[in-house]
Amino acid sequence: MNRKSLIWQIFPPYLLVILLAITAVTWVIVHSMKDFYLRQTAMELEARAILVRPEFNDPAKIVDALYVDSICKTLGKASATRLTIILPSGLVTGDSDEDPSKMENHAHRPEIQEALAGRTGVATRYSHTLFETMMYVAVPIKVGDNLIGVSRAAIPITALDKAFRTIYARIILGAFITALLAAFISLFISRRISRPLIRMKEAAASFTRGDFAHRLPVDGADEVKRLALAMNEMAAQLDDKVRTIVGQRNELEAVLSSMVEGVLACDSTERIINLNEAAAQLLGLNRDQTIGRYLQEAVRNAPLLRFISSILKSESTQEEQITIQHNGTHVFHVYGTLLKGEAGQFLGALVVLHDITRLSQLETVRRDFVANVSHELRTPITSIKGFVETLRDGAIHDPDDAERFLGIIARQTDRLNSIIEDLLMLSEIEQADRGTIGMELTPLIDVLNNAVATCEPKARAKEIGVKLTCDEKISIPLNAPLFEQAIINLIDNAIKYSDTKSAVEITAQKQADQMVVTVSDQGCGIEKMHLSRLFERFYRVDRARSRELGGTGLGLSIVRHIVLAHGGDVGVESTPGKGSRFFIRIPASRLITNNPVDS
Ligand code: ADP
Repeated sequence: MNRKSLIWQIFPPYLLVILLAITAVTWVIVHSMKDFYLRQTAMELEARAILVRPEFNDPAKIVDALYVDSICKTLGKASATRLTIILPSGLVTGDSDEDPSKMENHAHRPEIQEALAGRTGVATRYSHTLFETMMYVAVPIKVGDNLIGVSRAAIPITALDKAFRTIYARIILGAFITALLAAFISLFISRRISRPLIRMKEAAASFTRGDFAHRLPVDGADEVKRLALAMNEMAAQLDDKVRTIVGQRNELEAVLSSMVEGVLACDSTERIINLNEAAAQLLGLNRDQTIGRYLQEAVRNAPLLRFISSILKSESTQEEQITIQHNGTHVFHVYGTLLKGEAGQFLGALVVLHDITRLSQLETVRRDFVANVSHELRTPITSIKGFVETLRDGAIHDPDDAERFLGIIARQTDRLNSIIEDLLMLSEIEQADRGTIGMELTPLIDVLNNAVATCEPKARAKEIGVKLTCDEKISIPLNAPLFEQAIINLIDNAIKYSDTKSAVEITAQKQADQMVVTVSDQGCGIEKMHLSRLFERFYRVDRARSRELGGTGLGLSIVRHIVLAHGGDVGVESTPGKGSRFFIRIPASRLITNNPVDS
C-alpha cells in the first residue's frame, strides 16, 4: 500500500493515540488498585497486630519466650497471618512461623524502628526466612507510657503480584484487540473518506481528457456533496465554454479554408501562428507541420520574407506584388496588415495572398494584342500612305504607275478590311459563350459541302484536289455559319500552305465518344516548336509568307474560338515538308445522329 495513502495518514496516529490512552488508563487503574489493595492489607495487618496486643501487655509475660511463642503460633494459625513479638532490644520472643531463638535481632527492621518510635510501621520486602515477598505491619505494645515490645503481623504478597501480572496480561491482550479494532475502524473510515476523493480524482482526469459529460454522484458527507456539486457545475461550464471556443474555431477554420486567397498570420517574432490550406498550397507547405515554425525555416521566398519583416518592423499596413515559384510561376498581390490584441497591442502580421497570375497573364495578352493589332493595322496603312504620297508627288501623272500603285492601295485596303472583319468576328465569338450562340441540329455533310464549295475556286486555281469523306447520317447541334467558317479557315490554310497539284482531304467520323473532323494537306508542314502557339491571335510561322498569301494571323484563332463555343477542342499534327493534319473534336454528349443504328 502506498505510504502516502490516506490509511497511512490516519491509522498510525489513530493507533498511537489509542495505545497511549490504554496505557495511561491501565497504569492509573492498576496503580490505584494496587495502592488500595496494599493499604487495605496494611490496615488489616495493623488490626491483627493490635488484636494480639492485649495477650502481651504484661511486662512479665512478654519476656516469657515459651508463652509468647505458643500464643503467636496459635493465633497466627487461626488468622493465617505470621505473628511476631519483638522486645525493644530487637530480640524476637515469639513467631508464628519460625523458631524465635534462630531468628536474628530485628531492631533495625524499618517497621520495627517505626513501632519502637511509637508509630505504626509498614514495610514490604523479601523475606529470606520464608523466601517470599512479605508485607509487615508493626505496632508498639505499651503498658501505660512504657513501651514493652512490638507486635508485628505479616502476610506474603506474592499472590498479590501474581494477581496483578494476570491483570497486566489481560490488559495487554485487550490493548492488542483494541489496536486491531482500531486498525479496522481506521481502514473503514479512511476508505469512506478516500472513496469520494478517488472518484473526484477520476472525474478531474476525465475533464483533463476533455470528457466533460462525466458527472460525479452527489452523495456522502455534506462537504463531499458540495464539492461534487461544485465540480459538476465546473464541468458543465467548461463544456459550454469549450463548445463555444471549438465552434468559433471551426467557423474561423471554415472561413479560412473556403477562401481562395492564401492567409498567413505570424507573431512579432515571425513565428507562424496560422495559415489556411490555400496559403499552404500556394507556398508548397504542409499546413500542420508549418504552424508553430519560424517563417525563415518554412517559407523559401525571399521577397515574401522581406515583405513580412518590413510590416513587423514598420508596424504598418503594406501591399506589394510578389512572384512565387511553385508549380510554375505565380504572381501574387500580397496585402499585409497588423494583428492587434484586445487592448490594441501589436501582436504580429496577417498576410493575404491573392493569386493574380491569370489576371496578369490576361493583362499581358491584352497588351500584346493591342500591340499586335496596331502593328498589323499600321503595316497596310503605312503602305497606303506611302503610295498615296508617291501618287501626289507626281506618279499620278504616269498612267502605268498610277494603275500599279492604286492596285497596291486597293490590296492593302482589302487587307485592312479582312483584318478588321476577322477581329470583329473574333470578338463576336469570344463574347458568345456556349449557351448564347444559337445552335440547331444540322446534318454535318451540308456544312462541310458548303465549306468545300466556298474554297473550290482557290483550290482550282492551284489545281489542288479536295476530297470529302463524311457519313451523311451525322447531325450535330451546330451554329452552321460559324462552324462552316471554321472549316473554311482550315481548308483555306491547307490550300494556302500547299504546293500546286497536291491534295487536301476532309473527313468526318464518329468515334467512340466523340465526333472528329480532320483537314489534312500535303503542304509545307509546321515545325514542332510552333505547334503549341499556332492558335494564338496573330501568331504566324512565317510572317512575310502569311502576309504575301493574304493571311491575317487570326484564322486559326477564329477556328479555336468557334470550336470552343461548340464545346469541342481543336488540334494539329504536322510533319515539316510532308503536310499537316488539323482536327476538330466534338464530345459525344453533343452529338445526335439521324440513325443511331447505322452510324
Ligand atoms: P494566316 O492568316 O497567317 O494563315 P492562321 O491563323 O490561319 O493565320 O494561321 C497561323 C499560321 O499557321 C500561319 O501563318 C501558318 O504559318 C500556319 N499554318 C496554318 N495552317 C497551316 C497549314 N495547313 N500548313 C502549314 N502551316 C499552316
